[in-house]
Amino acid sequence: MGTSPGVSANNLRGILQEIFGYTQFRGAQQAIVEHVSGGGDALVLMPTGGGKSLCYQIPAIARQRQGYGVCIVVSPLIALMHDQVGALREAGVSAAFLNSTQDYAEAYGVEQSLQTGAITLLYAAPERVTTPRFLGLLDALHARGKLSLFAIDEAHCVSQWGHDFRPEYRALTVLHERFSTVPRIALTATADALTRADMLERLQLQDARAFVSSVDRPNIRYTIVEKKRDATQQLLRFIQGGHAGDAGIVYCQSRKRVEDVAQLLANAGVHALPYHAGLDSRVRQEHQNRFLREDGVVMVATIAFGMGIDKPDVRFVAHIDMPKNIESYYQETGRAGRDGLHAHAWMAYGLQDVVNQRRMIDESPAAEEFKQALRGKLDALLSLAEATDCRRQRLLAYFDEESGNRDKCNCKNCDNCLEPPAVWDGSDAARKLLSTIYRIHQSSGMAFGAGHVMDIVRGKTTDKVTQHGHTTLSTFGIGADFSELQLRGVLRQLIGMGAVAVDAQAYNTLKLTPKSRPVLRGEVPVRLRASVSTPSSSKNKKHNGVGPAAIKAPLALDAAALERYAALKVWRASIAREHNLPAYVIFHDATLAAIAKRAPHSLDDLMDISGIGSRKLEAYGQDVLRVMGKH
Ligand code: ADP
Ligand code: ZN
Repeated sequence: MGTSPGVSANNLRGILQEIFGYTQFRGAQQAIVEHVSGGGDALVLMPTGGGKSLCYQIPAIARQRQGYGVCIVVSPLIALMHDQVGALREAGVSAAFLNSTQDYAEAYGVEQSLQTGAITLLYAAPERVTTPRFLGLLDALHARGKLSLFAIDEAHCVSQWGHDFRPEYRALTVLHERFSTVPRIALTATADALTRADMLERLQLQDARAFVSSVDRPNIRYTIVEKKRDATQQLLRFIQGGHAGDAGIVYCQSRKRVEDVAQLLANAGVHALPYHAGLDSRVRQEHQNRFLREDGVVMVATIAFGMGIDKPDVRFVAHIDMPKNIESYYQETGRAGRDGLHAHAWMAYGLQDVVNQRRMIDESPAAEEFKQALRGKLDALLSLAEATDCRRQRLLAYFDEESGNRDKCNCKNCDNCLEPPAVWDGSDAARKLLSTIYRIHQSSGMAFGAGHVMDIVRGKTTDKVTQHGHTTLSTFGIGADFSELQLRGVLRQLIGMGAVAVDAQAYNTLKLTPKSRPVLRGEVPVRLRASVSTPSSSKNKKHNGVGPAAIKAPLALDAAALERYAALKVWRASIAREHNLPAYVIFHDATLAAIAKRAPHSLDDLMDISGIGSRKLEAYGQDVLRVMGKH
């Protein structure tokens, strides 16, 4: 592997400041850009928002300056290439893309500039990179020593584990086989052990240096609430309570649900748009564009939405239905707050979610062993939802990053740390529910659903209870002092623990399992959040996003500065429209806020503000001063 001694740490920091306008590398960025600029291979695992792009963009610029030629960026996200390239050009970097959205003439033009060495970074889809024509172009560049780096973005797409599998990624081994002296950097935010092993093997990166960052996202606040009668109202209160006017994503389990929730939010005055695979692709694209380009759009979506969305100012991600495991939950919530400013991950979960997810697993055609693994993952998510201790510690522990003593930990940025919930011992209620299921079965050989079982425990003489003679069961009415909400909570726990099975083939009826016994005997306690029984609303209001961290978003500004900030936003929107790019590509909110706070009078005043590189200073400096002059 050729190393390039000419790239010093100073040069790299210089690029960071001059081009991107940032003063400091973040986390592992510096080590990575030094290693890759020097010609080393790297595997980068960094959470969303960690700053992966700079890890290959800066080495690409450094190596181009040294005469090594172009960096090829392999990315599966065709729909986003235009904006990614636009962002680089705004910073004064010569970038281009090749994909199926271009006509022949356009693509030919790019190929020409590629050959003349006019391009520093070329973005291309994997299916394009592996065509004979494209490989021929690379051959010609390589022969002249003008191929500086391969960056493989979203590298987890090479793995079947997870839902982003892209078979074309498998063919990327050709890059290493054909251009073995060109360094490669593979990047992803999805880092579980299976995917990681797959990436190393499939991309032949066994010898690459691995840079693994903590998955923690300290600026994201986690809040998980139990669903009340109408979860959409809870969602609405969450949005109106702390996120009015903010950009956000709401994840729903089905297309129908997406439509309904989007409608409800729109009726309530939230700027909400639906997104799911059933919509016409033109509509979908348009909604995505509006989400990226307009301020404060709330995207109501299925999990079809989100991969590669690099909008930095998504202020909240809400799950109105429970996702299927912690990996999905973390990946989806991770789309909030990429800019490092305060953001909120909110989830509502309920018994029905658990039953639905269980049923989907039971009914899937997969092998039993695989289903068992899926159930385990669902249980882990449920126990996160039911947890009474720090959510962040639980998440980190799940990703094998145990740190500190869980009981003592206080991350100060999750619901349980901010407002420790009272704990309720549900063991007695659990025993009553389990023995009722047992008695029903004993007396008639039949099984019933959750509603009926709870009616018996609470001693309600419904028609169905009378009809089946269940008033005569010894457990009839033994739990009359429990509310339905409490019993539901206990049942949810029992299902989550596997101590009650839901038979999807037989009308979701409940059955005992081998795990019921230790609970019946009182050997395994059932502990719940006491809030299960608190009546709806009020309680969550305090922490709907206006806690200590939220005030910082994006900066504390006084009234005059706020006015300047608003004026800058209006100016930015007009530039973004003119350039056909999302507003954040021009300047981030945080940059605008910093400008507003400083109230600059000269270009010098602007120079050291984070996010203003030399090119942007030149292009927009005078404009910004003019806007400031008027305020
Ligand atoms: P990722 O791809 O890892 O999710 P990005 O590369 O999109 O993250 O970076 C997230 C945000 O952080 C971007 O808006 C980027 O401009 C910003 N950023 C990255 N590195 C730095 C840095 N060293 N200083 C300040 N901001 C940074
Ligand atoms: Zn916490």
